[in-house]
Amino acid sequence: MKGLVIKNTGSWYTVLTDDGPTVDCKIKGNFRLRGIRSTNPVAVGDRVEIITNQEGTAFITEIEDRRNYIIRKSINLSKQSHILAANVDQALLVITVARPETSTTFIDRFLASAEAYRVPVILTFNKTDTLADDELHYQQMMISLYETVGYECHAISAATGDGVAALTEKLTGKITLLSGNSGVGKSTLINCILPDVNLRTAEISDAHNTGMHTTTFSEMLRLPDQSGWLIDTPGIKGFGTFDMERKELTSYFKEIFEYSKQCRFSDCTHTHEPGCAVIKAVEDHYIAQSRYQSYLSMLDDKDENRYREAF
Ligand code: GDP
Ligand code: ZN
Repeated sequence: MKGLVIKNTGSWYTVLTDDGPTVDCKIKGNFRLRGIRSTNPVAVGDRVEIITNQEGTAFITEIEDRRNYIIRKSINLSKQSHILAANVDQALLVITVARPETSTTFIDRFLASAEAYRVPVILTFNKTDTLADDELHYQQMMISLYETVGYECHAISAATGDGVAALTEKLTGKITLLSGNSGVGKSTLINCILPDVNLRTAEISDAHNTGMHTTTFSEMLRLPDQSGWLIDTPGIKGFGTFDMERKELTSYFKEIFEYSKQCRFSDCTHTHEPGCAVIKAVEDHYIAQSRYQSYLSMLDDKDENRYREAF
C-alpha cells in the first residue's frame, strides 16, 4: 500500500494512504536511506510504501524518490542529520518587525539556505495591526528591499485576518513549509488559515510529556480546499547551514551574485579586493548594507571553519 507521510512524532509516522484511511506506522530499526545516517530517515512529505505484519503493526518499507528534502544537521558529535521535510514546493517565512523584531541576519540566512535547497520563499510580515508609524515605515522599507531582491512579500495580521486570504491563495496546490522565530504568530496564522486545527499546542505539550523530541515533531496540515499542505515544524526555527563553498555562498544572495559577475577577480570574496563590483554596489546603495552584512557573517562562519547553527 502506498501513501503520504503527514505526521512524524519521532516515534511513529502517520501515513495518509492512497486508499483513504490514515495508518500509524513504524520503521524498521535498521532502516537507512541512500547513505544518509539519520535518526529519522522518513519525513513528512515523503511518499512511502507500507506493509502491515501479522500482529497488525504497520511498517514503512520504502521511500519514493524525493524531489527535494530539507535536512538539518545535528551539532553534536554524532553528526547525525534529521530530515525536516521532503518534496517541499515553497517556504513561508513569518517575520515581525516588532514584538519581537526579526533580525535581518536571520531572514538573510534563511533565504540563503532556501536558495541552496532551491526552495522559493514567501516573506510574510505579521502583526501589522500592532505597528506604530515608524515601525510601519520600517516594514515598508524591508518589503521594498526584499521585493527588489526578488522575493514575494505579504503584510498580514493573523489576529485580524487582514491580508490572510491573499496569502492563502499562494498556498493553493502546493506543499509549503512554515517557518519563523517563536512568537511571530505561526500558530495564530495556522488557526487563521485552518480554523479546524486547534490541536497544535495540545499535541506539542503531549509530545513533551511523553519525552518525545519536539524538534523531531512535524506535521502536514491540509488546506481547507484540500488542494495543498502546510508543514508545521514547531520545534524548529529554520533550516541549518551546511557545507557550502565560498563561491556558492555568493550565488545564494541573488543581488550580490548579479554584481559579482563584474568583479575584477573571478575568485573575489567581495571583502577587500580591488575592482570588487559588490563593494562598489554597496557603497552606491544598490546592494543593501544589511544584506551585505549578512553575507559577511555567513562568510565568517566558513572562515572559522566550524559548524554553527544558522538559526
Ligand atoms: P508562534 O510562536 O510563532 O506560534 O506565535 P503565536 O502564534 O503563538 O503568537 C505569539 C503571540 O503573538 C500570541 O500572543 C498571539 O496572540 C500574538 N499574535 C500573533 N499574531 C498576531 C497578530 O497578527 N497581531 C497581534 N496583535 N498579535 C498577534
Ligand atoms: Zn567582488
